[in-house]
Amino acid sequence: MIEDRQHHFDYDVTVVGGGPAGSTAATLLAQHGHRVLLLESGRHPRFHIGESMLPFSEPVIQRLGIDWSAGNLSKSGAVFMDEATDQQMYFPLSVHRRTYQIERAPFDQMLFENAGKHGVVTHQDEKVINVSCDSDRVSLVSDKSEYRSRYLIDATGRSALMGRKAKAISRIQNLGKFAVYTHFENIQPSEEADELFRSGNIYVPVVDIGWIWIIPLAGRRLSVGLVVQKDKPKDCEIEALLQRYLAASPILSRLLKGAKQAEAARVEADFSYTNQSRYGSRYACCGDAAGFLDPVFSSGVFLAFTSAARIADRVHQGFLEGLEADPALHVEDDEKYLLGFNTMRLFVERFYHSNIVHNLFFEAHRDPDLKAQIAQLLAGDLWVDNNKLQRSLLAGRRTAS
Ligand SMILES: Cc1cc2nc3c(=O)[nH]c(=O)nc-3n(C[C@H](O)[C@H](O)[C@H](O)COP(=O)(O)OP(=O)(O)OC[C@H]3O[C@@H](n4cnc5c(N)ncnc54)[C@H](O)[C@@H]3O)c2cc1C
Repeated sequence: MIEDRQHHFDYDVTVVGGGPAGSTAATLLAQHGHRVLLLESGRHPRFHIGESMLPFSEPVIQRLGIDWSAGNLSKSGAVFMDEATDQQMYFPLSVHRRTYQIERAPFDQMLFENAGKHGVVTHQDEKVINVSCDSDRVSLVSDKSEYRSRYLIDATGRSALMGRKAKAISRIQNLGKFAVYTHFENIQPSEEADELFRSGNIYVPVVDIGWIWIIPLAGRRLSVGLVVQKDKPKDCEIEALLQRYLAASPILSRLLKGAKQAEAARVEADFSYTNQSRYGSRYACCGDAAGFLDPVFSSGVFLAFTSAARIADRVHQGFLEGLEADPALHVEDDEKYLLGFNTMRLFVERFYHSNIVHNLFFEAHRDPDLKAQIAQLLAGDLWVDNNKLQRSLLAGRRTAS
């Protein structure tokens, strides 16, 4: 451990959580010249769900200096469909920027190791169990050691270390309540399957209890999940629920013919919350630790990258100006974060409560401007002032008109 005897800090910044948000924040702070410790309770490669990326993550990826095409499937766009009415709509997303369908275990490992290559001190298998942020320092206790730093970044994902400590986590009601998902391998050749792997499109069939994701992955594998808006049934009923909906979907019945389920179904609950305590004196939260949204529009990792980058740059500026203990350091950036988060949140709420897929997405072929506005949101192009649909969402109206 590096000891700064003059200031009694072991590190400038401790980042807790080595997922996309934590590895990004740590790398960018190290690039700015700071001494950074990144603590991860698990060990990479570790499984994580969240495989469909958005193109507007690309500027952050470029700053990290990684190649996110390596081993991943290029993603062209998103197809929303209702198989009961045989309607569907395709939105091209990778128009000006590229994006991918990624397997999270190797991807998150690459991001974590990349932080180490940039000079971040990285520890795995080390869980942070307590932290206090005072006006003069951050004190942090893990299951292995204790550290003092000038700043803390909470990137603990849905564990939301600081938010839960402050009792500042509020559920967003009435969105998806749980997801059940698995991977399939050995997808057989067919015109439909070949086109899916060629385009890398995500397919989103809407169903009576929620929606399904169909994400093609490298190696002719499919990630398939069902997000359900009802309360979670008993654990023993969940796999059967997934199988019932897979069998009822014509496209999945065709794609999965002859394929092999690669693993038992997994379940995630506890969806969609806000954290009312996203920053304070000497700390800030990024990624899922700042807030989490039902994944229907694949916004999670994109928000993790963009919030982490913004926080890293602001903490650097705070150090330069001696303002790192100022609780108001992140006020301006938090407004930008909320603009992105709330746009996606309102969009997701419309998905569940205004039947947006039928009332807006399927109508978009009549109105190329509307189609472009939807695609802009689905790509993550959120910090602009030319999107009428985004403006109307934020103004609380139901349609773009
Ligand atoms: C069902 C489902 C489907 C999803 N689909 C998509 C998708 O298609 N596209 C998309 O972009 N997003 C998707 N997401 C969201 C995406 O998974 C997350 O938004 C993303 O992983 C957030 O990154 P993060 O770095 O903030 O958190 P995480 O990736 O969760 O990383 C947090 C890390 O912190 C570590 N940690 C936690 N507590 C501690 C502690 N006390 N001490 C040390 N380490 C700790 C954890 O081990 C973990 O590695 C989905 C989510 C779910 C639940």
